[in-house]
Amino acid sequence: MRTDRTFTMLKPDAIQNGYVGAILDKITGAGFKIVALKYTKLSKEIAGEFYAVHSERPFYGELVNYMSSGPIVAAILEKDNAVEDFRKLIGATDPAKADPGTIRQLYAKSIDANAVHGSDSDENAANEGNFFFSQFERF
Ligand code: UDP
Ligand code: MG
Repeated sequence: MRTDRTFTMLKPDAIQNGYVGAILDKITGAGFKIVALKYTKLSKEIAGEFYAVHSERPFYGELVNYMSSGPIVAAILEKDNAVEDFRKLIGATDPAKADPGTIRQLYAKSIDANAVHGSDSDENAANEGNFFFSQFERF
């Protein structure tokens, strides 16, 4: 049986508001194993590349500015059904619409500064993990 992986980032607002420990605790408490972990800051260029799939959307410019505005925490997570279960754990994109107890409902304030990223498919999870981590940074 294959154990699935997903990719996450704790966004600049989560770091700014001091929620790194609480969010990582929530993630591991939900049964996700941390396979790779990095504290870093994205340049505008790198943030633009990461979010290139959204380049035609009206919020792209602000998203890129925002994601390069302060440090982030990037991680690869492992769990059965990782992509779907992690999307459930983080909740809706807009924290006002996120279910009670989800990370975005608990720790995010707005649709743009929404505390966490979560991959939306196995393919994107693999691509996003490879974007941030070499083979020597996964355990
Ligand atoms: N976003 C935004 N305004 C919107 C929709 C999205 O600022 O109206 C930002 C938000 O930070 C979101 C990211 O763009 O997390 C990517 O959007 P997506 O639709 O992929 O949402 P997600 O997969 O993060 O829930
Ligand atoms: Mg998305």
